[in-house]
Amino acid sequence: MYVYADNAATTPVHPTAVEAMLTCLNEEYGNPSSLHTVGQRAKERLDQARETVARCLGAEPREIYFTGGGSEADNQALLTGAVLGAKKGKKHLITTAFEHHAVLHSMKRLEKQGFTVTYLDVHADGVVRPEDVATALTDDTALVSIMLVNNEIGTIQPVAEIARLCHEKGVLVHTDAVQAVGHIPVDVKALGVDMLSLSGHKFHAPKGVGALYCRKGIRPEILIEGGAQEFGRRGGTENLPGIVAMAAALQEATENLPREMEQVTALREKLIDGLAQIPHSRLNGHRTLRCPGTVNFCFEGIEGESLLLWLDAKGVAASSGSACTSGSLDPSHVLLALGLPHEIAHGSLRLSLTADNTAAEVDHILEVVPQVVEYLRGISPVWEALETGKQAHLI
Ligand SMILES: *Cc1c(COP(=O)(O)O)cnc(C)c1O
Repeated sequence: MYVYADNAATTPVHPTAVEAMLTCLNEEYGNPSSLHTVGQRAKERLDQARETVARCLGAEPREIYFTGGGSEADNQALLTGAVLGAKKGKKHLITTAFEHHAVLHSMKRLEKQGFTVTYLDVHADGVVRPEDVATALTDDTALVSIMLVNNEIGTIQPVAEIARLCHEKGVLVHTDAVQAVGHIPVDVKALGVDMLSLSGHKFHAPKGVGALYCRKGIRPEILIEGGAQEFGRRGGTENLPGIVAMAAALQEATENLPREMEQVTALREKLIDGLAQIPHSRLNGHRTLRCPGTVNFCFEGIEGESLLLWLDAKGVAASSGSACTSGSLDPSHVLLALGLPHEIAHGSLRLSLTADNTAAEVDHILEVVPQVVEYLRGISPVWEALETGKQAHLI
């Protein structure tokens, strides 16, 4: 059995999305900007996709801007908030220390351009406190960007509450909802955010397509010059096959949401209960304030990287954190932001499930992980030091 349990890195493309994409590739090959019938048919497909995405988020079609993925949407949102703030003389931005690098690196760039950024500490449970945001707000604050669901540990942030208190002070709010859309209910009006990012490949659409929701009254800054596409805010011939596939996948996810949330949550709970039996292990992030599918554990005395390789050999595809950093040996910035010491943060494992996973697959994971952990501890000098009392257990 081989179990794919790395859905927070990317998800398999669903047949509905493939089918939508294929009709587009085979028949609707037109350029939506062309005036002839073929072009206009493509334009119709584009409009329909925008309506679908808007409907699934409780937005207006005019508020949806298609992008080349979640990272682009994050970049565009942050630049937009910063530029709008600067026009009013406000040059302070607030985010958290455990955002995706698309947000963190955009913030670093804005710092070089003269903005000041506050990186809020995250509490040990992986949840940002609204009072910490309130305390960080100043008269100079232009934008607050806080993710809805963390990609490494799965915790859900109180974004609606944060948006309310920011708006009282006239501060714009962006949320990176890439790990939330398609997995938990996301309604832009209920959240009350000004901007929101999403990415198709995190909910069973292809890679390289995403969207930025930007509420009426805010014009996104242009990252890509080139044409009148996306209401003049993103140049380039639209990725129609990708966009249409994303709309189909989002519609499917939205229709199945209540049932799938229940199903995936049950799998997750079984997984957490099983992994918690491993001695000197620790669940990272709040037990219940989390999206249905994501589980993150630390196991003392072992290296995340060797764990992953052994799990892969035993038929489990997992991750040690974000796909973007798992090529490096640095511990995850997310786990460090929770206040975990380096030694512990090194031995982390992220398993992320969707409704495609089965109870039998969870059983397989629960059979294999304890075996591999025990094996690796058996050959680990760190574990030996812990067991002989030369070093104190931290978990
Ligand atoms: C995957 C991810 C992104 C980046 O999306 P891409 O479409 O891969 O660029 C941004 N933020 C979060 C939270 C993510 O999980």
